[in-house]
Amino acid sequence: MKAYSELTLQERRDELAKLQKIYDDYCGRGLSLNMARGKPGAEQLDLVSDLLTVLSSADDCYDDGIDVRNYGNLTGIPSAKRLFAELLGTKPEEILVGGNASLNLMYDLIAKAYTHGLLHSERPWSREPSVKFLCPVPGYDRHFKISQSFGMEMIPIPMDENGPDMDKVEALVRNPSVKGMWCVPKYSNPGGIIYSDAVIDRIAYLKPAAPDFALIWDNAYFIHEFSGEFVPFRDMLTLCREAGSPDMVYEFASTSKITFPGAGVGVLAASVDNQKYIESLLTIETISYDKINQLRHVRFLKDKAGTLALMKRHAQILAPKFTAVLDALDEEIAPLGIANWTRPKGGYFVSLDAMPGTAKRVVALMKQAGVTLTGAGATYPLGMDPLDSNIRIAPTLPPVSELKLAMEILCVCLRISALEKLGV
Ligand code: PLP
Repeated sequence: MKAYSELTLQERRDELAKLQKIYDDYCGRGLSLNMARGKPGAEQLDLVSDLLTVLSSADDCYDDGIDVRNYGNLTGIPSAKRLFAELLGTKPEEILVGGNASLNLMYDLIAKAYTHGLLHSERPWSREPSVKFLCPVPGYDRHFKISQSFGMEMIPIPMDENGPDMDKVEALVRNPSVKGMWCVPKYSNPGGIIYSDAVIDRIAYLKPAAPDFALIWDNAYFIHEFSGEFVPFRDMLTLCREAGSPDMVYEFASTSKITFPGAGVGVLAASVDNQKYIESLLTIETISYDKINQLRHVRFLKDKAGTLALMKRHAQILAPKFTAVLDALDEEIAPLGIANWTRPKGGYFVSLDAMPGTAKRVVALMKQAGVTLTGAGATYPLGMDPLDSNIRIAPTLPPVSELKLAMEILCVCLRISALEKLGV
């Protein structure tokens, strides 16, 4: 196979005609495949379904003398705080164990910033003349949607294999209207990169002009290796405390990709002063989260060793799916020089950069052939990828056989779109 840039016009035309036939054949098959969202597959859900029966009697519902069936313990049961503190490397008093997932806790934090302000706010963000947020790109679409829905101005920050461009970040936080930053520091969505130590240090030592700058440290994939051993990760609460900004960071995590997405447990780790402030607002909002589910998780996961052992079993299911994606791209696309992609060792995604100007076309061709991908541009604020290049691949949901087929089709669509772009 020759690189597409070296093909003559006639060769490109011949290649396109050949690919078009293959593509038409896929379209005629009436397929319905999905590589759009980072959902665990059925096999992973089966793996954790003992969670459904781990509490089966009234007696099972007592924990540290607390009856979890009743109101109380707004910020979480002590055993769940201990479990997540151990997993995240923080202290139990820095943990709030919330409801079924973490995105809602993130939204709630931003909503509180707008309605009431954060601990060090001079006024609620709704009364600020302008609120800007730093958005490392490509990033998680739902973060950007939260910012968008509150009317923030989003400032894209380029990412490389070490994390966000810190020169840009350090310059921008001198502006007091820059109120925060979205970060997925370990196995980022979608790139699957781990922020380097140097980047993490620079983030911890940021000195934003806004006294209430909120570092949203979304550690969604904190123990989610699918290849190799668990990679220990530094505790951002400790680092920010050491840097003299203990209240700057709000760390989030959940069991969505450990047990059941949508029926897991979400966690917010923050300084004790932040926790006190948040609790003072939360106590108006709810009387108690679902402590029965918290206890189920504690009994099922037990401790860090138990949880990491479970993650190894998830990894056995996930690894072949990521291999299928990378093998297809390495074999079919690499020799053609028309795209680049990441090679993560954990998380839920592969980030694919198609030939600039073709991502939308690729996603549309895939849709027509019956394969749903995350919308092109979704990984950028307002859905606007300036290069129209980035595509997020989410390989976890389909079985390997379906995934292989979806990847075959994706490779054909990448090739067709690149040829069209090069001119035929
Ligand atoms: N944060 C990131 C980076 C994610 O990728 C996801 C889900 O894909 C979430 C948060 C959602 O987590 P939860 O289910 O805990 O709301």
